[in-house]
This record gives sequence, C-alpha cells and structure tokens, in this order.
Amino acid sequence: MATTLSNSFCPKSQSEAVIVPNDAAGLTISYEHLNRLIVGFQERLASFGINAGSAVSIALPNNLEFIVSFLGVAAQRSIAAPLNPAYKQSEFEFYIDDIKSALVIVPRGAVKANAPAVRAAARYGAAVAETWWCPRQDKIALELLVPGNLKGSAPVVTAEPDDVALVLHTSGTTGRPKAVPLTHRNLTRTMENIRNTYKLSPQDRTYLVMPLFHVHGLLAGFLAPLAAGGTVIVPPKFSASTFWRDFTHHRANWYTAVPTIHQILLKSPLPNPIPKIRFIRSCSSPLSPTTFHQLEEALKAPVLEAYAMTEAAHQMTSNPLPPHQRKPGTVGLGQGVEVKILDDAGKEVAKGKEGEICIRGVNVTKGYINNPSANESSFTKEGFFRTGDQGKLDEDGYVVITGRIKELINRGGEKISPIEVDNAISAHPKVAEAVSFAVDSELYGQEVAAAVVVKPGQSVSTEELKKFVSEKLSKFKIPTQWFFTEHMPKTATGKIQRRIVAEAMLKQPK
Ligand code: ATP
Ligand code: MG
Repeated sequence: MATTLSNSFCPKSQSEAVIVPNDAAGLTISYEHLNRLIVGFQERLASFGINAGSAVSIALPNNLEFIVSFLGVAAQRSIAAPLNPAYKQSEFEFYIDDIKSALVIVPRGAVKANAPAVRAAARYGAAVAETWWCPRQDKIALELLVPGNLKGSAPVVTAEPDDVALVLHTSGTTGRPKAVPLTHRNLTRTMENIRNTYKLSPQDRTYLVMPLFHVHGLLAGFLAPLAAGGTVIVPPKFSASTFWRDFTHHRANWYTAVPTIHQILLKSPLPNPIPKIRFIRSCSSPLSPTTFHQLEEALKAPVLEAYAMTEAAHQMTSNPLPPHQRKPGTVGLGQGVEVKILDDAGKEVAKGKEGEICIRGVNVTKGYINNPSANESSFTKEGFFRTGDQGKLDEDGYVVITGRIKELINRGGEKISPIEVDNAISAHPKVAEAVSFAVDSELYGQEVAAAVVVKPGQSVSTEELKKFVSEKLSKFKIPTQWFFTEHMPKTATGKIQRRIVAEAMLKQPK
C-alpha cells in the first residue's frame, strides 16, 4: 500500500486522470501528464524557497491549478492548506495567521485586483503567487508576485509518510474551527479505505461536486478515485443545471455529496434516460430516510450514507455496496477504522445503548495544532479519538448517529436527539427541510424548537405538524416552538449549524 501521495498514482499511465469540463478545449489530463505538471510545479515552489514544513495556503476554486498546487506542495514535503476562495479578508487572515502560511497561492489577476486573500497575506508577511494553466507551454504557471518573507531557493525533495501534507480546519460547527494536521500516511489510509469500501477501479468515473478545500471533496471525490486509477471530472462548482449534462457526457458512474445537493438534484429536472449509476454516496450531514428513499427511487441506484470528519482525514464508516445491506438512518460500519461507543467514564456501552462515538485508525490525526486542551480531552488512554458525536450501534453493528453531544437538547434531564426530531418532521409530505434546536425554558432548562421550510406552493399549520410527529415522537420530544422560514442558514459545505439557525429564528418576528 502506498504511504505517500506521490506513490499513490501511477506516474506513467496514459489513462485519463482529470477532466475539466468547462474548458472550451475539453481539457483531459492523463496520469503521466498530471505527474509532469506536478513535478514542474514542485520545482517552481523549491525555486522560491518553499521547504519541508512550509505552510502554503491555496485559495483556488476546483480546477486543475488547485489539483496541481495541492499535489505539488505535498510532494515538496510542505503543507497544503486549502482555503475557500470566497472567504472575506478577515476569514483569510484567521487561517493564514493560525498556521503561519509562508505562501498564499491565488488565481491569475488576484494581485492586481488586490483580492481579499492578497490583502490578508500582506498583513502577515506571507508571500503571494498567482497560478494559471498555460496550454502553450504545457505547464501550470506559478509567478511569485509578492515575495513576503521568502528568501533564496530550496532543494527539490521527496516526501516521507509521516510528513504533514495537509492542514484543514474543522467546519467550526460547534465552536472555533480547529486546525487539523494530516500526514501522507493519514491521507493514503483514507484513500485505501474509501477505495475498498466502494471497490473503486480504473473503470470508475467520478463527477466531483464537493469543494476540494474540505476533506469530503478532496479525499472521497478526488484522491481516492485517483488512487484507484479512475477518472475524476472536475467542474468549477456544483450547478444543478449542468450536473446531468456533464455527468452523462463524461460517462460518470458515481458521485459523492452532502444531503443538500441530493435534495437540490431531486427538485431539478431529472435526466432522461437516467444514466447508469453504480452508487451514490452521501456524507457530512445526516441524510433523512425520506431523502434516501426518494433518491434511490429517482436515480435507480444504491445510496450509501457515510460518516466522516476532518480529524479522521474524512471517512470513518459507510454503508456497504450491495449485496450487503444498506440501512437508511444509519451510517453503516467502520471501514478500515475501529469504532466503539463509550460512556462518560470511557467504558464501552452495550449494543443499542447511546454514548460517544469513538474511533481509532491509521487515518486519524495525531492531534490539533496549538490546542493542548482539545488534544487532552479528545483522545482516550487507548488512543481512541472522541468524535463529539452521540450515537449507538444497532443489532447488526451499524452506527446510528443521534446528534452532536454539544447540540443535544436537554429538557429537564431528558436528552433529546435533534436529528430524530428533524427526521420526524421532514417525513411530512409538505415539508422540504426541518431543523430542531434547543430554546431556553424556565421550567425545563431547555425545550425543543423547530425551524421548517415548507415545499414551494404548499402550506401547513403547526397543529398539523404536531399531530403528524406525535405518531413518531414521545410527547416530551415534540417541539413546543415552531418557526417557518424560506431559507435555512448553512455553511459553505451545506452543514447545518443549529446555533446559527436558532439565532436566526429567535430574531424572526413570530
Ligand atoms: P467543529 O468540529 O469545528 O465543530 P464539524 O465537526 O462540523 O466542526 P467537520 O470535521 O467538517 O467539522 O465535520 C464532522 C462532523 O460532521 C461529524 O463529527 C458529524 O457531526 C458530522 N457528520 C459527518 N457525516 C455525517 C453523517 N452522515 N450524518 C450525520 N452527521 C455527520
Ligand atoms: Mg467536529
């Protein structure tokens, strides 16, 4: 098994590695070609003095420049730190300062335009280089326009398995984002785990719609398919109107996405005929059983829900491919990762009992950067990582996530899983989306509230919803406060932040 990114791909293969569908010339890059671009990029980085351990922020959209920058930085024993290119200056400043980036890579024209990433780099003395695809010279150009604190040149080196290749921050759903270092060994293990889970092969063609600046897109949508020798189609971003055209045209046979994207696709016109899809992967947020069934029915493909986090270099568990059983409402089985459910005292609980989901595996980070208190509380003595997620194992050992420990609703001592409440409400045929959260209560400390988006052209009363969920939920779990909204606030990766939803709803006039 390969233990560095460079060793994960066959550098001589002429088969298609990357297709960029938006390019007028229909850009298709073979493995051999990709390798040449990466080697050229790495030499250029070395000429600027980028060394082992230098942090390099990559503020690019999904494109060939991103791919080559990421793999080139990692090849040079330096640390790639992808950032959402749509960040505001203050957000760039936070990330650039947090990991002390030596260099920030931006698209062509960003320096002249004094783009937010460029202004943020200037505040911290980070160098800035622009990058673009140069077909005539057959290279990904890299021009150092702001030298910052970089000096001289460095030798071209070869990465080692325990070098940190990637630093990403957690999504900040439950607090300040934490910086997670991931080594080549961590990443290659996840690539192997994902490849095994879905039996990825050179025949597979992935349509990548998740951003490459998070583990979901980078590991599941890009690196794992590449490690299997497959082809990845890389549009600049998800667009419902071009999804099926590109998917069909490039003969894609699977995709991975967050539930929001599946829901958008279900609301958009479906392709006719439906292409042959080997499987659909859903990850990063809970997929309601309703959406699961609608998706399987509409696209005639098995839907496999997986469970992942930044600290695990993405995937921890997944539902298996047929003929094995996939179960809606569960995230499946540990895939190359050990899973245990522990109680507060760190003791394993019995099947069916709830506790904290804890994991151990070669893919898991050694610990956060500059965060000794989080590191202290995140690992057990046996080296299991505490995910912060509450869950249980069902009778077959499938993991059921019941909520985030920090988001559980505590009604007079009764812990209520917001996910269970969300699922009960979103099963109503007139409901498009539902998010429950805690509100303060004088009597119980906390009570359940729910924000609901109703399907277009429909209307539904609180009474009707209460009656509907009372068939599934005990009385104490039924929301006592209901809010109707047209738009549910989400993060860039489509995650629900319950505290943000709560703030927005409580501000709303009733
Ligand atoms: P922070 O750690 O900063 O609060 P975050 O946990 O959202 O943010 P990520 O690493 O992006 O940051 O997300 C991992 C989390 O996403 C998991 O701990 C879990 O709560 C949630 N998650 C991932 N997959 C699923 C899934 N299939 N169902 C439910 N929740 C999921
Ligand atoms: Mg987290």
